Amino acid sequence: MNRRNFLRTFLAGGIALFGACGCSKTILSSDGATPIENDSKSLLGIQIIDPHAHPDMDYVGARWRDKSASYRYMQEINMATSSFSAVGDRVFSSHLFGNSAFKNTMVQLDWWLEGIVKENKVKLVLKTSDIPHQSDVSQPPGAILSIEGGDALEGKLDNIDKFYQIGVRIITMMHYHNNEIGDIMKARPHSDPGPYRGGLSQFGRRVIVKMEDVGMVIDVAHSHPTTFREILSVVSKPVIDSHTNPSPTEESSYHGRMRTWKEMELVAKNCGVTCTWPLRYHDIPRRIISDWAKEILVMKQRLGIEHVGLGTDGGGGYHPMDGYDDERDLKKLGDAMLEVGLSREDIEAYMGGNVLRVLKTCIS
Ligand SMILES: [Zn+2]
Repeated sequence: MNRRNFLRTFLAGGIALFGACGCSKTILSSDGATPIENDSKSLLGIQIIDPHAHPDMDYVGARWRDKSASYRYMQEINMATSSFSAVGDRVFSSHLFGNSAFKNTMVQLDWWLEGIVKENKVKLVLKTSDIPHQSDVSQPPGAILSIEGGDALEGKLDNIDKFYQIGVRIITMMHYHNNEIGDIMKARPHSDPGPYRGGLSQFGRRVIVKMEDVGMVIDVAHSHPTTFREILSVVSKPVIDSHTNPSPTEESSYHGRMRTWKEMELVAKNCGVTCTWPLRYHDIPRRIISDWAKEILVMKQRLGIEHVGLGTDGGGGYHPMDGYDDERDLKKLGDAMLEVGLSREDIEAYMGGNVLRVLKTCIS
């Protein structure tokens, strides 16, 4: 099946595949299905920008269980813009086009372009001036096309141009597979992480130069501490670490997907942003939304609020905190941030202001 036929097939009916990896009134969701009640005003007037999410992954089919991110929810909470991140490594939809990570990634991006952008359900964000202001409810929310896993480049710099031309503006260098750019911080259970590369490769260095040159954001999420440090030592523009949270220890064996304070300090020094997510843990006190807000307060005290941001990984198929079901629950986070003593300015910075600063520098 070629790409066009595949698109036609799932636009018509869908193909089931195995996946990888929060107004003062009652609101009826735009799909007419899920009424929600939230009297919170904590996010009113706040420009929310989520730099890492996988909304509306309908191309995966009904088996994709995580529906926590959608343009419908974005519109309900007036989210200005979200990343629409295609999965670039082979943990996902790997059987569509043989083993071509490039083609698999293109199919995912095409789905959003054909099924959502063309239908005017979201507005494609190619530069920061395209980001709709949240106060303008007549506009659809913005969508920044992204790729999670530089495997999609297949070791070719020219593929950066191809992805840029169709609208990709953020690439997460690594996902669950050691790739031509460098190494991952945590393997996915029961999947092959590929050979360890020993840090940022020469190709990875060229990718950084090229991405900065064309105007893309470098996302260091999922990168191994050595690769992470080497990326930060060669970039000339700010980066994002799009979905993580602070580790309770500096001991490297403990981290998993968490970042140490020393690592987050490097991102701060780079004028970048460490973005935190609603992931629930069993072994550290990060189980309910107020834990998330307290963590943001500590990050403000240790790193400066200008280096802390939101990155939900909505749609990413993980177990979220109690009380967090989907993007609409960001309102609860806004409330909790006020309750722990953070200001409205802090909320603005966290929910999108800091990521907007990085976007302006990187994609103009
Ligand atoms: Zn993700």
